[in-house]
Amino acid sequence: MLSSPASGGFDQARRIHQMIKKIFAKVRVTNSIFLIGTFAVTCTAVPFYIWQHGLDVFQVSLFLFFFVSTGMSITLGYHRLFSHLTFQASPLVKLYTLLFGAAAFEGSALAWSADHRRHHKFVDHDDDPYDISRGLFHAHIGWLLFRRGPDTPLTWVRDLQKDRLAWWQHRFYVPLAIGMGFVLPTLVGWLYGGAVAALGALLISGFARTVAVHHVTFCINSLCHWIGDRPYSSKCSARDSFLMAVFTFGEGYHNFHHEFQHDYRNGVKPWQFDPTKWTIWLLEKVGMVRNLRTVPEEKILKAQIAEQELQMDAHMKAHAASITESCQQLLATARQRMDEALLRWEELLVEYRAAAAGQQEISRREMAELRERLQEAYEQFRESLQTWKSTWRSLPVAC
Ligand SMILES: [Zn+2]
Ligand SMILES: [Zn+2]
Repeated sequence: MLSSPASGGFDQARRIHQMIKKIFAKVRVTNSIFLIGTFAVTCTAVPFYIWQHGLDVFQVSLFLFFFVSTGMSITLGYHRLFSHLTFQASPLVKLYTLLFGAAAFEGSALAWSADHRRHHKFVDHDDDPYDISRGLFHAHIGWLLFRRGPDTPLTWVRDLQKDRLAWWQHRFYVPLAIGMGFVLPTLVGWLYGGAVAALGALLISGFARTVAVHHVTFCINSLCHWIGDRPYSSKCSARDSFLMAVFTFGEGYHNFHHEFQHDYRNGVKPWQFDPTKWTIWLLEKVGMVRNLRTVPEEKILKAQIAEQELQMDAHMKAHAASITESCQQLLATARQRMDEALLRWEELLVEYRAAAAGQQEISRREMAELRERLQEAYEQFRESLQTWKSTWRSLPVAC
C-alpha cells in the first residue's frame, strides 16, 4: 500500500524527532548547561568587566583564595581524604573541605568518591567512568556532558555514608555549592567595595574560578593518564609528570598514585612538587589531621625495580640479535648483587623497626650503630641499583 505524501512527511518528522530524543536522552542537561554556561560567562562577561573596571589587588587575592581553597578541597579533601582514606581529619578540616569542595561544583563528596573509587577499580576499562581509552575529550569533560549508563551508586561509599558531615553535605549539596561558590564571594565583594566590587567578585572568584578549578582537576582524569612516565607500573595508563603536578596541586604523580592509592603522598620523593602532600603534613604538625598512611620505602623501590625489569626484558627481546650471552651474564651478575644488597637492607630495616618500637632491649650506642649500618646498607643498595641500570643502558657495548 502506498502512503500519501503528507503521511511520508509525517514519518520523516517523527524519525527526526526520535533521533533528537535519542541524542538528548544521553545529554546530562544540568551538567551541560552549567559547564557551558560558566565557560561562556568566563569568556565574555569576565573580560568585559576587567576592561571596564580593571583588576585590583582585592579581586586577584579573592580569586587566589577561592581557587586554592576549592582546588585543594578537591585534591586534599574529596580525593585523598574521602575517596582513599589516606589520613584521618578533625571535624574542622572535614567541614572546610566539604564546604569549599561543594563550591568547586563537582558534585557531593559522596558522589565524587563513588565515581573515583570506580575509576581506580576499573581503570582503562568500560566501567571506568572517565576511561581514557575512550579518548582525551571523554576523560576530561565528555563523561560529564553525556551519559553512558546509570550513575555510580552510593554503595561504593558505604563507609562515607556513615560520616555525618559528609552525608549532610550530600543532602544539601546544591544550596551549599551556590552559597559557597557564588553567594559568598559576591558578599565579600559587596562588603569590600559595594555593587561594582560585588559583581567583579561574582564574575572572577565565582564564575572564572569555577572554570579554572574544573579544568585543573579534570586534567587529573585526562592529561595525567596521557603525559609523562610510568616508573611504578605500566599496567595502567596513569603517568607521573612534574608539569602536570604543577597544574594539579601535586596530583600529577598519578602513576605512583594508581599503584599506591592509600599513600597520602602522590609526589612520594621529597623533592617532588606536591602542595597537597605538604599541606597534609603541616596539618599533622598542628594536630588537625593524623594517621597519615604511607607505603614502606622498600615496597616502592621493589615496584620500581619490577617495572624497570619489564622494560629491560622488552628491550632485550627487541635487540635479541645484538645481545650476546656474555652481555646477559654481565646483567645477571649486576642484578644478583643488587638483590643481595636489597635483602641485606631489608633485614636491617626489620631489625631497626623492631628496636625503634621497643620490641627488643637495645642500648643507645647499639641503636646508633644499627642506624649507621642501616644507612650503609641503603647506600650500597642504591649503588648496586645504579650499576644494574647503567649496565643495562650500556648494552650491548659493555660486553
Ligand atoms: Zn586516574
Ligand atoms: Zn585516586
